[in-house]
Amino acid sequence: MKKKVWLGALLSLLAAVFLIACGSKASNTAESSTPASSSKEEAVSGASEKVYTDPAELKDSYDVLVIGSGGAGMAAAVSAHDAGASVAVLEKMGEVGGNTAKSSAGMNASQTKFQDKEGIKDSNDKFYEETLKGGGGTNDPELLRYLVDNSASAIDWLDSMGITLSNITTTGGMSEKRTHRPADGSAVGGYLVTGLYHNLAEREIPMFVNADVTNLEEKDGKISGVEVKIDGKTKKVAAKAVVIATGGFGADLDKVAQLNPKLKGYVTTNQAGSTGDGIALAEAKGAATVDMEQIQIHPTVEQEKSYLITEAIRGEGAILVNSKGERFFNELETRDKVSAAINGLEPNYAYVVFDSALKDRVKAIAQYEKKGLVKSGETVADLAKAIDVPEDALQTTLETWNKAVADKSDAAFGRSSGMDHALDTAPYYAIKIAPGVHHTMGGLKINTNTEVLNKEGQAIPGLYAAGEVTGGVHGKNRIGGNAVADIIVFGRQAGEQSAQFVKK
Ligand code: ADP
Repeated sequence: MKKKVWLGALLSLLAAVFLIACGSKASNTAESSTPASSSKEEAVSGASEKVYTDPAELKDSYDVLVIGSGGAGMAAAVSAHDAGASVAVLEKMGEVGGNTAKSSAGMNASQTKFQDKEGIKDSNDKFYEETLKGGGGTNDPELLRYLVDNSASAIDWLDSMGITLSNITTTGGMSEKRTHRPADGSAVGGYLVTGLYHNLAEREIPMFVNADVTNLEEKDGKISGVEVKIDGKTKKVAAKAVVIATGGFGADLDKVAQLNPKLKGYVTTNQAGSTGDGIALAEAKGAATVDMEQIQIHPTVEQEKSYLITEAIRGEGAILVNSKGERFFNELETRDKVSAAINGLEPNYAYVVFDSALKDRVKAIAQYEKKGLVKSGETVADLAKAIDVPEDALQTTLETWNKAVADKSDAAFGRSSGMDHALDTAPYYAIKIAPGVHHTMGGLKINTNTEVLNKEGQAIPGLYAAGEVTGGVHGKNRIGGNAVADIIVFGRQAGEQSAQFVKK
């Protein structure tokens, strides 16, 4: 605890020094979208505003240019810098964070020191096998192996930067608790983005926002820089290596429907910048893609505000009930199966139901309450009235479920995880949900060095990619908590590898 507070204080001091050092450079500011949380304050204390670099400071040339400032881009920027490269981050939106800022459940990792502390017996092999099973056996085996084998060291790497993911829960398709989140159980995204932002600031890595990369430059068969629209101008910036970390294309609903016509009319949980730009930029240079039609719908999305309701709620013990107040499926099956079960309901929506003890364990719920997404009742009967389901049915559903938790046996649907706590502490709560477009599993084809491959399977010299813009790691279905693992493990690797490349 002491270490974290100290580190937090140091980070704020360094951030303050950075801001002062930047002086007129720091012209663009944006309110942090992160909800206040005690653990965030420990890691990034004093961070109410993020400050960005003045466009006038954009140089003509860097060793490594990182396109996109979600978790993958920021991790790449830190590791490239720490490996000795001069780096800049170009972000097309008005603030850093991308979809990463919205991610909730946590970061999956196996054989971690935090699992050890809790006596959780996990193994990289088990993590590998369960992810492969969840992905329908179609995951790229080498990328997946790299992901699991480097997951624990990525948790340590973040911890060394004051980003401590010490509270562990579970998500659908995982048999062990391996989803790491901030100490107080709050959503991982805001905490991670703010923590990474401060690490970039501390290293004086320039972060340009409203900087839209529109082309990759090429010279002598190598990627040699980018073309970027910034401050009303189009500028060419040279780089010895470029890391594409532009995220997925889940905000481009036309593209989604074109690739998978069944998804026409779905809402999306994605931020507006997730339009697949990086895929198009690299394809123009001959890059290959994989699994483009594999688009994940998340089962629990509040439909009016398209707001994702974290899987951690079910991981902590919530159930799903239909409009008759009855359970209808194993809530912790993989996302594809739970989504299909909800779509098969008539009417096709469900409620995530939980109690006040669970609400205390999952801090993200406070955000949902603020947004007016949560219905409540002092008793189960009151809740049933509030969500318009039969009172007796909901009562029976909860009694049966609490008995299943006590017996550690769910005869009805065979659920075997997220059963540590009964739902018996008033008041009771429910959030109405249905599936929404969430994650694009396909994307650029990379190898374990994060080099972007062409159609012949050869690396395109100087071009690296990491995070949701890439494909292969997740196969046909991404497991909750594996996107954050992906962006940190491969973002870190892209930074290291691109920095090594520029030294050659
Ligand atoms: P990941 O989870 O893979 O890190 P995110 O969605 O969190 O992906 O972040 C990707 C970021 O890349 C977003 O902030 C998005 O706005 C940004 N981005 C997308 N296209 C471009 C582009 N053409 N130029 C600069 N930034 C981009």
